[in-house]
Amino acid sequence: MRSGFVSLIGRPNVGKSTLLNRLVGEKIAITSDKQGTTRNLIQGVYTKDDIQIVFVDTPGIHKPIHKLGNKLNYQAYYSANDVDVIALVMDASESIGKGDMFVIDKLVNVTTPVILVLNKIDKLNNEEILKKIDEVKDLYSFAEIVPVSASHNDNVERLISVLSKYLNDTVKYFPDEEKTSSPMEFRLAEIVREKILELTNDEVPHSVHTLVSDITEDDKTINVYVDIIVDRDALKKIIIGKKGLMLKEIGMRARTDMEKLLGKQVYLELYVKTLKKWRDKEKYLNELGFNEL
Ligand code: GDP
Ligand code: MG
Repeated sequence: MRSGFVSLIGRPNVGKSTLLNRLVGEKIAITSDKQGTTRNLIQGVYTKDDIQIVFVDTPGIHKPIHKLGNKLNYQAYYSANDVDVIALVMDASESIGKGDMFVIDKLVNVTTPVILVLNKIDKLNNEEILKKIDEVKDLYSFAEIVPVSASHNDNVERLISVLSKYLNDTVKYFPDEEKTSSPMEFRLAEIVREKILELTNDEVPHSVHTLVSDITEDDKTINVYVDIIVDRDALKKIIIGKKGLMLKEIGMRARTDMEKLLGKQVYLELYVKTLKKWRDKEKYLNELGFNEL
């Protein structure tokens, strides 16, 4: 048995969570085209034959704007030093920006091997991919560079075999079928948040938190109660929508995903609550589970 931990780092939106889901073969992290989607450390487990890799998906590293931002960055750095190998993910289809350099700068004192994953190569032709590799290869002393497409499942197997070379443990951390350490309550709440991100525009994402308040089960259905917490009434209005239509759509989409995940009929109830300035209030951040580390 060879096993180990790999952290996925990189600026927001490069596709870390999409890649994690692909590596693990199940949707365990929500994704969206909006920044700041991932808020907690999410562990995803790949187990095949005698290899087990525990991937740690981090909130993207970015300059903190408010207290929540600080906590997210802290989590992202925390995971960098404690793993066998770091997979630094970049968007190959975009030019290298400040955001990427900010992340690379954080790696100066890191001794863990860093593998550069150039994601989104489905957007490039072969020539452009080679040009990209040439552009990035000297930015850091990368152990290896692996181009992939997480969304098109291109070269992801190759990434697994590259990462496997750097695993240092012999312990099996998770049983074969376990794909994540995230509790079911968290995954269900995240599904609701994903649908909100999907259906609303940019002003909403950073200000929304979702929390399962109760789950009950009877013969035919699982009843899930989710609080949607926003920091101002204007957002509450947006999420509920005209005649409650937005909230209804969020609920329908979330329920479909939950039924897939749970394999049982789901009854879903959503409540929208305003909690002013929750992002800056230490107390609420702790209550909302941002202080698990
Ligand atoms: P994260 O912030 O780094 O976790 O990024 P996400 O995984 O949430 O992905 C950000 C956006 O990039 C989403 O809209 C994804 O669908 C998209 N995306 C991720 N991987 C790929 C890829 O390989 N190709 C393309 N074209 N889009 C991708
Ligand atoms: Mg993410």
